[in-house]
Amino acid sequence: MQLVLIGPPGAGKGTIAEKVAAKYKLAHLSTGDILREAIARGTALGVRANEYVETGRLVPQEVLGAVVAEGLRDAKDFVLDGYPRTLEQAEFLSGLPHVELDAVVYVAVPEEVAVSRLAGRLVCTACGGVTNADDGAAESCAFCGSGRLEARADDRLDTVKRRYEVYVAETEPVVEYYRAAGILREIDGTGSRKAVFARVEAAIGPLVACGDDNR
Ligand code: ADP
Repeated sequence: MQLVLIGPPGAGKGTIAEKVAAKYKLAHLSTGDILREAIARGTALGVRANEYVETGRLVPQEVLGAVVAEGLRDAKDFVLDGYPRTLEQAEFLSGLPHVELDAVVYVAVPEEVAVSRLAGRLVCTACGGVTNADDGAAESCAFCGSGRLEARADDRLDTVKRRYEVYVAETEPVVEYYRAAGILREIDGTGSRKAVFARVEAAIGPLVACGDDNR
């Protein structure tokens, strides 16, 4: 199964993608995670991407295209999170060998919900686990038990506003592109993680062939 998750910043794509990857045994490719790791390690990609990520702008496709092509090279079944975000990227993706998307899951959340989630998001510096201050503030990570929790560098309010504007201008047309192609599945991304995941399963479950051992 080949899936794309699309939606505004704060829609919960990363959380959903992890669960979908585990349940349906898919490779998980997150361009945001790849870029943050490259920045943290100071690789050539990280050095080029840093100014864009920090300010909430899109990393140019000529920088990211090769990363996505490489990441998907050997993946038959995958969930892509954070890519494509522009029509140019959508066209690039559809031109890659072996890529034939089964569905694009559009996670819809109103701007207020997205912004308030991002304002409370905390990431573990050790394991990368994501929690939210609204879940009840904790000193250390609920996943690994030891890591320190901190806000993501691009979750500052001014950067969140910029990311949202970029989403409306650049990524909403991609949603319409996939709607026109007939592969868009829209789900309501509000409510608990459990409620949202149940909607995702209802949307993609029918794509899993009967008897398929992915199930
Ligand atoms: P979110 O979806 O919450 O905004 P991500 O972790 O997906 O967060 O992305 C963080 C940042 O990484 C983006 O603001 C952008 O700078 C960069 N980025 C991620 N994916 C792409 C992409 N497909 N094209 C260009 N830049 C990207």
